[in-house]
Amino acid sequence: MAIQTVDPNTNELLKSFEEMSVFQVDEAISGAVSAFATWKQTNYEQRAGLLHTVAKLMRDQKQYLARLITMEMGKLISQAEGEINLSADILDYYADNGARFLADKPLAPEFGKAFIRYSPIGVLLGVEPWNFPFYQVARFAAPNIMVGNTVLVKHASIVPQCAMAIEVLFKEAGAPKGIYTNLLISGKRASMLVSDKRIKGVSLTGSEAAGASLASEAGKNLKKSVLELGGSDAFIILEDADIDKAVEWAVVGRINNNGECCVAAKRFIAIESVADEFITKFKDKMANLIVGDPMDAATQLGPLSSEEAAVALADQVQRSVDAGATVLLGGKRPSRPGAFMAPTILTDLHPGIPAYYEELFGPVASFYRVKDDQAAIDLANDSPFGLGGSVFTQNIERGKLIADQIDTGMVFINHPTWTQADLPFGGTKGSGYGRELSELGIDEFVNKKLIRVCELNDPF
Ligand code: NAP
Repeated sequence: MAIQTVDPNTNELLKSFEEMSVFQVDEAISGAVSAFATWKQTNYEQRAGLLHTVAKLMRDQKQYLARLITMEMGKLISQAEGEINLSADILDYYADNGARFLADKPLAPEFGKAFIRYSPIGVLLGVEPWNFPFYQVARFAAPNIMVGNTVLVKHASIVPQCAMAIEVLFKEAGAPKGIYTNLLISGKRASMLVSDKRIKGVSLTGSEAAGASLASEAGKNLKKSVLELGGSDAFIILEDADIDKAVEWAVVGRINNNGECCVAAKRFIAIESVADEFITKFKDKMANLIVGDPMDAATQLGPLSSEEAAVALADQVQRSVDAGATVLLGGKRPSRPGAFMAPTILTDLHPGIPAYYEELFGPVASFYRVKDDQAAIDLANDSPFGLGGSVFTQNIERGKLIADQIDTGMVFINHPTWTQADLPFGGTKGSGYGRELSELGIDEFVNKKLIRVCELNDPF
């Protein structure tokens, strides 16, 4: 796959990059190994200092970095700036809390003393997607650098300039060579690297296919992996919900990041008695979105990340319609240049129609009516994915009961699935395993070593 910057607003090729050679990749891995030997000896204060400096540089260069994001993958410029802030927050969060998370944990055995000591495991490979080019990397790199690991990052091939900018930030912050290294290579080559004995763990955020490929290599080579994969979040509207609020969040939940969000609200499930009101208002707002140039502050929905992505989404919609789905809104690509897809709502979906089980990565919503809470839960759980989900109700206890029965890694009451540094993020089923962010996110690639202190007169 070519490593290129193509502006999805125009589909114009802006820049091409040479992939790294086998020799360059080998050197990069060796560099990360050498860096690990000294980085693991540093204390938490030194590691925190580096992360805080990178965070500060990110904030100082926010406008420039945000424009890179928008130019390479089409995110609205205001959201790109928000992503830079969030990424810097994640770096600061692990700098501020890492030492506490990684402090020795005393145990209480029957006799004698014991504790758990956290130590780094070595060089890690992170494979990252284009949809949040800075945030995804921050989630992986910040906790692991705080632990004392060193990281190699293979970023998505359509965001090479974002990938290189992150490496430059670490360099400008004074990171010793090899702590953070960008690998300009294709996905296939990333999977092939997993068998390299110098790499001790792998983390991938992306599609199920890429996750399965990387994790099977990791399994064969007895290496730990973390997978953050796709999702098809249910957004349940109960009859006691504040419908206007639910509609506002439904639109945000579906079109945030131009709809290209693993935790976007994708399946809207309304209890019959409020279904008409919800869908009428939701359709009205989706129909009136301002579609256009993501650099323009007035735009509400930009292009998809690439022409390929737009073609694939339009094809999923068409295949669903051919199989019996009804189009309530949109359904086609607008007649304008760029990787655009019209805001779309599909209904009359059932197993056998592609949109029922597949992830729809863009501004395409699926709408369902159900008779009661149990039917909503059953439908929400009838998915190969298990990432996030939401329940809208004014009865919080009822919301919690439903949240408890939804088979996903995250459920939000009265809000679409969202993210922040101190909340764990991750899924179940086809959405992967492991967690990023919060205290859980620093726990994945560490050796949790038991240290047992025994006395001479302890029993056998
Ligand atoms: P993708 O095609 O799987 O790409 C993700 C990354 O994996 C890219 O760096 C890609 O490299 C690489 N890759 C592709 N094939 C690979 C292989 N065989 N072995 C190793 N690496 C490989 O996914 P995408 O289309 O960019 O991203 C969208 C997907 O990511 C959606 O399903 C979305 O839901 C999911 N996602 C999940 C989360 C989460 O936290 N759960 C967050 C964001 C996105 P190339 O670019 O070079 O192909």
